[in-house]
Amino acid sequence: MRTYGGDKILPSSRCSFCGKARSLVKKMIAAGSNDTYICDECVLECSSMLATGRETSNIFADERQLMPADFKREMDEFVIGQEHAKKVLSVAVYNHYRRIDKPHDKDGVTFSKSNILLLGPTGSGKTLLAQTLARALKVPFVIADATSLTEAGYVGEDVESIIQRLMLQANQNVADAERGIVYIDEVDKIARKSENMSITRDVSGEGVQQALLKLIEGTVANVHPQGGRKHPNQETVAVDTTSILFICGGAFEGLTDIVAERLSSSGVGFAAAAPGNVAQQLDEQELRSSVEPQDLIRYGLIPELIGRMPVVAHLEPLRIEDLMRVFSEPRDALLKQYHALFDDDGVTLNFKETAVRRLAELALERRTGARGLRSIAENCLLDAFYEAPARSGGSLTIDARHIDGEKPEIQPHRRRAQRKRAA
Ligand code: ADP
Repeated sequence: MRTYGGDKILPSSRCSFCGKARSLVKKMIAAGSNDTYICDECVLECSSMLATGRETSNIFADERQLMPADFKREMDEFVIGQEHAKKVLSVAVYNHYRRIDKPHDKDGVTFSKSNILLLGPTGSGKTLLAQTLARALKVPFVIADATSLTEAGYVGEDVESIIQRLMLQANQNVADAERGIVYIDEVDKIARKSENMSITRDVSGEGVQQALLKLIEGTVANVHPQGGRKHPNQETVAVDTTSILFICGGAFEGLTDIVAERLSSSGVGFAAAAPGNVAQQLDEQELRSSVEPQDLIRYGLIPELIGRMPVVAHLEPLRIEDLMRVFSEPRDALLKQYHALFDDDGVTLNFKETAVRRLAELALERRTGARGLRSIAENCLLDAFYEAPARSGGSLTIDARHIDGEKPEIQPHRRRAQRKRAA
């Protein structure tokens, strides 16, 4: 029997009894080499059941519902910053699954479904947040791109193919697929041109938004189970999308200009004496949090679609310090992965803080958010990765100058080097 603590645990490990992720418990115990785990809380629960003769427990799988704070903690393990978005998402997801399990309260009040719209620059963690939530909930998850969505009948991805992919993730289990999460990226790119002031690219606008609307408001998609091509005689399976949680994301560049213009012309809620200056008095962050449905309509989204995404969360652009943390802190951070990979080849990696800072600076210059970190780091480490397996260990120090292009060298371990010199 192995017990795990600290960093060595696989991210996927979950208690086989209550379903909690490693990050949510103090200790996780693995049973031999298979994927069976039990957490410290379930061990205590089992021991109390043995002592009292009690035969059921309400903390075991499916009986204990994850709370908003559980979702937030899970997101904290993987996503740096974005505190507000995490909180909004935790509550929205909690309510969404509560609604599926209990569609109305004791007085017959029906809970309505809330899809989520994430506004934030590229590489700020929108997809990562959605993915982390799906993993915490153990529900199937797919990512679709709004720009590849088409009005039915055109070449491209249609509603059915997204659901078909969800079915694949759900091992063809319809009930599981119907509780899944679909992340739809780049919804800002399907804004219509007419209302659209600042977008240069327009895919096909309103027709595609109508297709998306149909998908997220609830439709029955008839999909071919094995993911094969459509064939007239092949049986289809009906999947109802009503309870699927749709999280839409987009950068919405230029949206704050629309907000500023609205605020300037109305002056509502601000110093009415100087309405023209309102936008100047607010910083970008304040403008982002002042987004109203009417701004999204002006941006080019159809009102019906906005109505289906009543929960809106904003993600902030990542600053240098955030990018430095993204590189080194999350549970599966790139730096931790590089340490493990070099360690495997007997090479000790020493990635200096100055190098992490330089890396973050370059990523920021590229304006691709955290996305840029990986390619810059891997470019820098390429030669070392190439040579490490053939070396009999050593150490590798990465400084800011290596990030700027100087080739880093793997140094032999000191004792071995001394022996070599003596010989
Ligand atoms: P987008 O906002 O464009 O959807 P992603 O979530 O796809 O961005 O982020 C791209 C990659 O950058 C992720 O795989 C993750 O490694 C990293 N990343 C982005 N934002 C964060 C963040 N806030 N915390 C940790 N990692 C992040």
